[in-house]
Amino acid sequence: MSFMGKGTPPVDDPQDILYADRVRVYPKSVHGPVRRFKWAVLIVCLTIYYVLPWVRWNRGIGRPNQAVLLDIFHERFWFFNLEFWPQDIFYLTGLLIMGAVALFLVTSLFGRLWCGYTCPQTVWTDLFMWVEREIEGDRNERMKRDSGPTDFDKIWRKGLKHTVWFAVAFWTGGAWIMYYVDAPTVTVEFWNGTASTPVYLFTALFAATTYLLAGWAREQVCTYMCPWPRFQAAMLDEQSFTVTYEAWRGEPRAQGKRLPGAGGDCVDCGACVTACPTGIDIRDGSQLECINCGLCIDACNHVMERTGRPGWLITWDTLADQAAKAAGTHVPLRLIRPRTITYLSALVLAAAVMIIALALRPGLGLSVQHDRAPLFVTLASGDIRDGYTVKIVNKSPTQAVFEITTQGLYGAMLTEANEQLGPAETLGLPVPGDSVGTFRIMVAGQPAALVDGSQPIDFSLRDTATGEVTVYHSVFMGPVRRR
Ligand code: SF4
Ligand code: SF4
Repeated sequence: MSFMGKGTPPVDDPQDILYADRVRVYPKSVHGPVRRFKWAVLIVCLTIYYVLPWVRWNRGIGRPNQAVLLDIFHERFWFFNLEFWPQDIFYLTGLLIMGAVALFLVTSLFGRLWCGYTCPQTVWTDLFMWVEREIEGDRNERMKRDSGPTDFDKIWRKGLKHTVWFAVAFWTGGAWIMYYVDAPTVTVEFWNGTASTPVYLFTALFAATTYLLAGWAREQVCTYMCPWPRFQAAMLDEQSFTVTYEAWRGEPRAQGKRLPGAGGDCVDCGACVTACPTGIDIRDGSQLECINCGLCIDACNHVMERTGRPGWLITWDTLADQAAKAAGTHVPLRLIRPRTITYLSALVLAAAVMIIALALRPGLGLSVQHDRAPLFVTLASGDIRDGYTVKIVNKSPTQAVFEITTQGLYGAMLTEANEQLGPAETLGLPVPGDSVGTFRIMVAGQPAALVDGSQPIDFSLRDTATGEVTVYHSVFMGPVRRR
C-alpha cells in the first residue's frame, strides 16, 4: 500500500511527509451507472437522516409519539415499538457488535463499500461537492478561478457556495438534535427563541463539524483521521470484489493515437485520476486512500467509448481473477470462503442472541443494594435486621403494584420505612408508570433462623397485574457467634 496519493508531491525525508502542504483535490464530475447508483444511495441516506425524526408513532397517552427518539432527559430510547431503558445498555453493545461484524463481512466480500457509499463523511462530502460544482463549475473552471485574482466573480461564487454549505450544515446539525428532542416542538422553540441553551449549542457544534469535515477536510478525513482504512486491509483478501485496474490489458499505456493493436488500452489520459475524490491513481494498485467509490470506472468507460476500446478497463473484480485473466484464464467469484463464513456465523450468532434477548426481555426490573453501614442491627427482641435500598423499574405506562417477598431466610419480616408498610412477609409497593420506584426495606430475621455471618437471600418481585416475576440475589448479614 502506498502511503501517499498520486496528487501528493514526492518527498524523501519522513519529516517532509509529516509537514507537507495539503495538495488540494479538484474532482471532475463524471456520468455513468456508478455515479447514478451513488446518487441513489446518497438520496436514500439523506432522506432517512432528515425525515426520520419527523416520523410519528402512536404509543398512547403520556408517551412520546416520535418513532425514533433518544430522550436523554427521561433516560429512554424509543425505536418504533421498542423502548430501551438505561439498564438495557447491553442491547446497544449487541447492536454495535453486529454492526462491526456486518462491516467486516461486507468489506471482505466487496471491499470498502461502506466508505464509498454510505459513510456519513462520504455522503456529505459528495453533497458539498455537488453544491460546489453547481456554483463554481467543474474541475478546470474551479482550478482556474482559485489560481486567478480575487475579482467580483470569485467573491460572489465563493460567498454563495459557503452560504449554501452553511445552510446544509445547519440543517444537518438541526436534524441531529431532533433525534434527542421532539422534532416539531424543538423546531418551533428554536425559531421563537425558547429552546434550551444546549439545543442551540449542539446545533451550532454539529453544524460546524459538518461544515468543516464535508466542506474543508473532505478526503483528509478518510486518509488521515479515520482509523478504518488502517485495519480494513486485514479483512480483504485476493477474493474480495474491489475496484481494480486491469493492468494486464491497460499496459503498456501511452498517450496519443496508436496503431490498432499496438500497446495497452490505457491512453494515459488521467481521467480516472481527475475523477477521484481522494486524488489517487487507481493504476498504482490497491491503496489506503481508495474508498472504493468506483467513480474512476465511469470516467474510464467514457474514455474507452470515445477511443473505441472495450469498456471496464477499470472495473470491479477480485485480485485472483485479475491474475488469472492476465494468464488468459478466469477465476469465478467466491463468496463463500473461510473468512466470510466466520464473519457470517458471528453475525448470525449475535443476531440470534439479540433477538432472543429482546423477545425474553422482562417488563420490570429489580435492583437491591444492601446498606454499607451498619451491616446489621440487633433489635430489642433479639432479631437481626438488615437494611436495603430497593429499586423497582415499572416499564408499563400506568401505575402498577408490585409484591415483594424474600426467600432463603425462614420467617423473615419486611418493613418499608418511607411508606410505613409492614412488618409483613410480603409488601405491596406502588410504582407510577414509566418510572423507577425507590424504597427503603428492612428485613428482620430471628436469630434461630440465621447462620453465622452472612447468608444468601433472594428478593422476589411480582407484578400483581401481569403476574410477571423477577428475582434478585442478595445477602443477609448477621453476627458471627463465638464458639
Ligand atoms: S481510485 Fe477510484 S474507486 Fe478509489 S477512491 Fe478514487 S475514484 Fe474512488
Ligand atoms: S481513465 Fe482509463 S485510459 Fe484514462 S488514464 Fe485512467 S485507466 Fe487510463
